[in-house]
Amino acid sequence: MDLPVDEWKSYVFQKWSLLPKSTQVTISTAETLSDIFLHSSLLLQPEDEMFLQNLSRGYLVEKDPNAPLFYREEGNKKFQQKDYMGATVLYSKGISHSRPHTADISLCYANRSAALFHLGQHEMCLKDIMSAQMHGYPERLQPKMMLRKAECLVTLGRRQEASQTISDLESSFAAKPTLTAAQFQILQTNLCRLKMKAQEKESLTETFPAALTKALEDMDLKGENGQVPSASSSVSLRTDPLRGRYLVATKDILPGELLVKEDAFVSVLHPGEMPPLCHLESKWDTRVTNGDLYCHRCLDHTLATVPCDGCSYAKYCSHDCMQQAWDLYHSVECSLGGLLLTLGVFCHIALRSTLVARFEDASKVIRKLCGEIRNRDTCSPERETLVQTLTCDLGGESENKGKMLEPPVPGCDLNGKYESNYNAVFHLLPHTGNHSPEHRFLCALSVSALCRRLEAAGCYKPAAAVPPGSGSELDVWGVAMLKHVLQLHCNAQAITTIQHTGSKENSVTNSRQVRLATGIFPVISLLNHSCSPNTSVSFISTVATVRASQQIGKGQEILHCYGPHQSRMRAAERQQKLRSQYFFDCSCAACQNEKHSAATGPRWEAFCCRSCGALMQGDDVLICGSTSCTESVSRDHLISRLQDLQQQVGMARKLLRNDKPEGAIQLLLGCQRDAQSFLSGEHSLVGEMEDDLAQAYAALGDWQKSATHLQKSLQVVEVRHGPSSVEMGHELFKLAQLFFNG
Ligand SMILES: [Zn+2]
Ligand SMILES: [Zn+2]
Ligand SMILES: [Zn+2]
Ligand SMILES: [Zn+2]
Repeated sequence: MDLPVDEWKSYVFQKWSLLPKSTQVTISTAETLSDIFLHSSLLLQPEDEMFLQNLSRGYLVEKDPNAPLFYREEGNKKFQQKDYMGATVLYSKGISHSRPHTADISLCYANRSAALFHLGQHEMCLKDIMSAQMHGYPERLQPKMMLRKAECLVTLGRRQEASQTISDLESSFAAKPTLTAAQFQILQTNLCRLKMKAQEKESLTETFPAALTKALEDMDLKGENGQVPSASSSVSLRTDPLRGRYLVATKDILPGELLVKEDAFVSVLHPGEMPPLCHLESKWDTRVTNGDLYCHRCLDHTLATVPCDGCSYAKYCSHDCMQQAWDLYHSVECSLGGLLLTLGVFCHIALRSTLVARFEDASKVIRKLCGEIRNRDTCSPERETLVQTLTCDLGGESENKGKMLEPPVPGCDLNGKYESNYNAVFHLLPHTGNHSPEHRFLCALSVSALCRRLEAAGCYKPAAAVPPGSGSELDVWGVAMLKHVLQLHCNAQAITTIQHTGSKENSVTNSRQVRLATGIFPVISLLNHSCSPNTSVSFISTVATVRASQQIGKGQEILHCYGPHQSRMRAAERQQKLRSQYFFDCSCAACQNEKHSAATGPRWEAFCCRSCGALMQGDDVLICGSTSCTESVSRDHLISRLQDLQQQVGMARKLLRNDKPEGAIQLLLGCQRDAQSFLSGEHSLVGEMEDDLAQAYAALGDWQKSATHLQKSLQVVEVRHGPSSVEMGHELFKLAQLFFNG
């Protein structure tokens, strides 16, 4: 998803392999990003663009005039089954395919308002009623919708508006002979009921979750850092040749302290699983994707999306977000949806970064880019680049020249301030030399294709005069985009959210962390990696917060995990991943420790002896770890037993889903007996079975038993993921729910 789709990847790799050796050498040994870009760009042929265009056409990103009716009918089916959530999403899809001021859009809005009403989302329901009216909702259908409006207002305690709507309704009934007597009767009854309700209703106080979210958003840094404005005053920016730039604690930090609070420079929502149309049975996809539930710009969760007027894939939480996105970047991106999905999220972020950069001082940015293009070394921001960049920045302020003697930290401005802006983004390392020549060619050709489309669409208006000898302005931005795509390999930050799974009837809900978007956070990019970090990162909308997850002593480095965490992967696997994606060998404390400890494999995958219960050791043939025992068994045999057991557990889960908890418990208890004869007590499957048992007992209302099993599952999770992990948090939250219910 980050990189281009496989078809384009293999197409470009093949093109690369067929290039004359001399051309390959020219591109492989090109010393600057600009040379790589310009050489590759010259090789992009019309047939390549055609191939790419055909791939892009596979995505349904335009408004399809036949889709609204389809989605509305599908939505109505869900509505009748009382699946209001499902109905809401389908009506949203219908809305996103409708043109403004059509019957389609007004009907979809009106239907969605009904679904939202049933979900208790009264504010959103009111908004949708307004939208339905704005887009010309048919007169004859109005009364029912107005009744819903009055009901929402009553529920929300907005008495004055409610009474107004009720009396409007009454007078319109009086003037409307079109209603049948029966219809009139029903409306009258409803009105009377509403009037009474309106009189009883006290004004409502703010609901708790809203208040909580607000409290979290308002949480600010203790003292702002003069050098790094998005960081707290407890940390400071340092640089040395070995570690590059990094943050250290300037005082003792307690667990939970907020260290960084940074809004993404740009972020791009992951469309989610969105296979090209040719892979689908129906022309229209009815599945729920991220794009249906989260704002395209601010990433807020919303059921009542507002679509872009021009395309069907960009949906927002509000008109404000839509307008802001349009002004900043979507006016250019709107018609490029299919191409951007084909080229992947990294290309999309690269484009958006340059679009947003135009709003900082565009001519300054251009000058900086040209400085970079002429520069010889692109693998790292060497002194030269810095001096050059700085000269650009300097302008005429001579009093600052004294500071030139001590080169500032890359990405900082003249006053040594490191802000979350394009200047900082620009100085993130692209590690050009570490990428394979094929990969650089793929990125360069993809960006070239994007530039050609931008040029053809005429959406790139010159922002500033380009110094002679630097190519066209679009070329300059092309080089910048190539740099961003390469930077993203090491600097992209996954924006995650917690998604709740399982039906709402379940008293104990499951939750998991899912990737929602990818963003660039220049300040968070300053943090170095550790497989056992001392911070944790979380997100609200596009804002990331970094908190200390343990005590950090004064002078210690602030560390963050890039993904390979010691509780999720073994050292060898982590090293491999860090080397291939981030180009370094990890020597963090966890990696050092593991090097010294014996490689018996993680406890959550261990088998135990059937006679004495000790852990089994070895590769193909496993031997009992106890010296007084001679038991041995082949790994293949144990693996096949494990697979059988997993199948049984799968069947138990099916029973649980189908509301047959008793059957599930029977089956799971059998599985447990089986597991005891060959799996270690800390095996992850053993933990999962305990979790399933906890859910089954909860479904029967036996909180006591449920809690006992959940506590056992908790022990396994702690072994596997560590005491301060997100996974542990989820389990503890479930336990709290159980204790509350019990
Ligand atoms: Zn939004
Ligand atoms: Zn659009
Ligand atoms: Zn490590
Ligand atoms: Zn044994």
